[in-house]
Amino acid sequence: MTITEPAWAKLNLTLDILGKRPDGYHDLRMVMQSIDLCDMVSITFKERRGITLVTNLNYLPRDNSNIAVKAAELFFQETGIPPVGLTIRVDKHIPVAAGMAGGSSDGAAVLRLLRRALAPELPDRALEAMALQVGSDVPYCVRGGTALAEGRGEVLTDLPALPDCFLVVCKPSFPISTPELFAQVRLRQLRCHPDTAGLSTALYNGDLSGVCRRVYNVFEDMLPRKYREVGEIKRQLMDLDAAAACMTGSGPTVFGVFTDEAMARQASEQLRQEYPQTFLTRPVGRCAPADKCG
Ligand code: ATP
Repeated sequence: MTITEPAWAKLNLTLDILGKRPDGYHDLRMVMQSIDLCDMVSITFKERRGITLVTNLNYLPRDNSNIAVKAAELFFQETGIPPVGLTIRVDKHIPVAAGMAGGSSDGAAVLRLLRRALAPELPDRALEAMALQVGSDVPYCVRGGTALAEGRGEVLTDLPALPDCFLVVCKPSFPISTPELFAQVRLRQLRCHPDTAGLSTALYNGDLSGVCRRVYNVFEDMLPRKYREVGEIKRQLMDLDAAAACMTGSGPTVFGVFTDEAMARQASEQLRQEYPQTFLTRPVGRCAPADKCG
């Protein structure tokens, strides 16, 4: 039996760092949004024991340092279900190390698939608690849609869907390491913070321009000069009539919000000439909760 799920990429409409915790993580406050750029993740049960990972990107790890494998191992460990032989197939389309939670989303898709096949009664809360042991972004990726993520990223509050729009997503060719960027954080030097409450209110009011005015990521203010291309892509998106442009997560991917499809298409075509990993995307809603996933 093979079952498949899309693993949606995410964008940060806001990203704020509130403080450093005793456990070494940072306290964050972020508004997250799933988009229709996705990896396809499938699981097939096999007779021989063990987990085999197959992927179209040969440089990705295939052992349990791959987030998809780690998630499967954790699922069996935490549920107490005896491990069965499994082939996980991950067809990657989300750029890697891009601030779009590609790996976290693959891990989340594996958790949703294993629940669907082996433990349909497992509540969302239990799956999300398991997900946090896989990684900070994984609980949000289990759920998807539009959500406020606090704590390490695991304290989730659903928000109303982002009003319909077009999101042009542009990944420059260099990667940015998330740990490297977190190491740069100097809390006292953070002078600007996003208006997360105002953005949430704009979502409740279905007010896209109110959302666009408040899209903001504090990581942009601490980017080393070597990453100045991020600012250049933002400027290009604004020149191409984006209503807002911002870096997502720890970058380097930048997105622009457009209300008009033709303009979004034109912007994505223009940027793609210089940046092949440019995508025209749209927001997507929440993944099916436990009672609808069986
Ligand atoms: P985030 O937005 O959560 O910080 P990211 O989009 O910046 O994540 P990923 O694409 O998830 O970063 O990959 C980060 C690292 O994780 C890469 O160096 C990669 O080798 C490793 N990795 C492990 N499993 C996966 C996977 N299934 N897909 C992508 N990367 C993976």
